[in-house]
Amino acid sequence: MESSLIDLPDDVIAIRDTVRRFVYEQVIPREHEIEEQALVPPDIVQRMRELGLFGLTIPEAYGGMGLGSLAYAVVSGEISKANSAVRTYITVNNSIGYKAILLGGSDQQRREYLPRLARGEFLTSFALTEPGAGSDAQGIQTSAVRRGDRWILNGRKHYISHAHRAELFTVFAVTDKERRARGGISAFLVPKGSPGLSLGKQQEMMGGRGSHPGEVVFEDCEVPSENLLGEVGYGFKLIQACLNDGRLNLAACAIGAAERLLEMGTEYAKIRHAFGAPIGANQGIQWMLADSATELEAARAGVRDRAGEGRGAQRRPGVRHGEALRHRDGEPRRRSGAPDPRRRRLHEGLPIERFYRDVRMLTIVEGTSEIQRRSIARFLLGF
Ligand SMILES: Cc1cc2nc3c(=O)[nH]c(=O)nc-3n(C[C@H](O)[C@H](O)[C@H](O)COP(=O)(O)OP(=O)(O)OC[C@H]3O[C@@H](n4cnc5c(N)ncnc54)[C@H](O)[C@@H]3O)c2cc1C
Repeated sequence: MESSLIDLPDDVIAIRDTVRRFVYEQVIPREHEIEEQALVPPDIVQRMRELGLFGLTIPEAYGGMGLGSLAYAVVSGEISKANSAVRTYITVNNSIGYKAILLGGSDQQRREYLPRLARGEFLTSFALTEPGAGSDAQGIQTSAVRRGDRWILNGRKHYISHAHRAELFTVFAVTDKERRARGGISAFLVPKGSPGLSLGKQQEMMGGRGSHPGEVVFEDCEVPSENLLGEVGYGFKLIQACLNDGRLNLAACAIGAAERLLEMGTEYAKIRHAFGAPIGANQGIQWMLADSATELEAARAGVRDRAGEGRGAQRRPGVRHGEALRHRDGEPRRRSGAPDPRRRRLHEGLPIERFYRDVRMLTIVEGTSEIQRRSIARFLLGF
């Protein structure tokens, strides 16, 4: 995140600048290749490992950097200036991919998985959504039944990021149909290769090429009883904790993408000529840029304020868990370059078309914009 009314501490500036150099010098020059091949090249993934990007938020005790919300938001913004597949590599492992292990896992599970995750040795997936249940997570049908010292899972997940690349899945299943969100959903760690676990089709989305969302199928899938995360029935609390945590950061990702878009739009307005002058000389174009810069500044200040303030901000109406920022920044950030047809016209011939598709997912993943609005309103109304 470029500039704001709120100053960044020196250590955050240092990591931001390192990641920015990596993104501009090594990723952006290859963004067409990543898009065309729907693959983040292995040498880029290796560089991300070397920079410690897979362990940004993982506590230092488990080999990560243990960054706080502000530093993580700033770094995520920088990463989001390139393809969203690159961002997904980093943000899934740093949030929903490991959070349930940290919050619900035993000491042994944490020690076994978190250091390897921090080193970027493998990818994880968060398997919640199903064909019949997305926003209404308590409607999932995947079931888990205890049989001796094992749990038997049956069901189908879909739209699961990195499904076909992940080595480890955090899976949510119903253990008590009557109780559901009130203690009837449990979380399990399911390693790839578990008996009865298979991968269904890869699901092409309009954007995010290379992040490989897909189906994960459980047919009498067996996991040892120690793969339960936390207590039986603790799953819904874990879902809420993992998703709430990520919302602020998705706003930061949207801001990073918008910064790049504004950069491209401004540059194009200078070099593209019409009627004998750069198109940026026209007031109509200037206002588009000015409106985008204004919205962006407000968004940046909001995210930094919330991230810097930490839990104190949760007492403020509408910013309890970052829903307000996620909602506000997800939507206007879509406009600041891509989905607003006016601004899109500004970028003709630039990688804007990919951003147009990529940024859309930020208004869907980990809770749609409508669900953010619902949460904000329910908080205000005290429901
Ligand atoms: C690129 C991508 C990656 C994803 N990765 C993952 C992943 O890794 N793991 C995972 O578990 N899931 C993942 N998802 C799934 C994502 O979390 C869901 O798509 C999302 O939660 C919405 O669920 P749904 O698609 O079933 O839509 P639905 O819940 O069926 O909603 C359909 C529409 O109705 C609206 N709606 C629903 N309820 C209300 C309401 N009460 N008020 C107003 N409007 C409402 C929604 O906002 C939406 O517009 C991913 C999705 C995408 C697109």
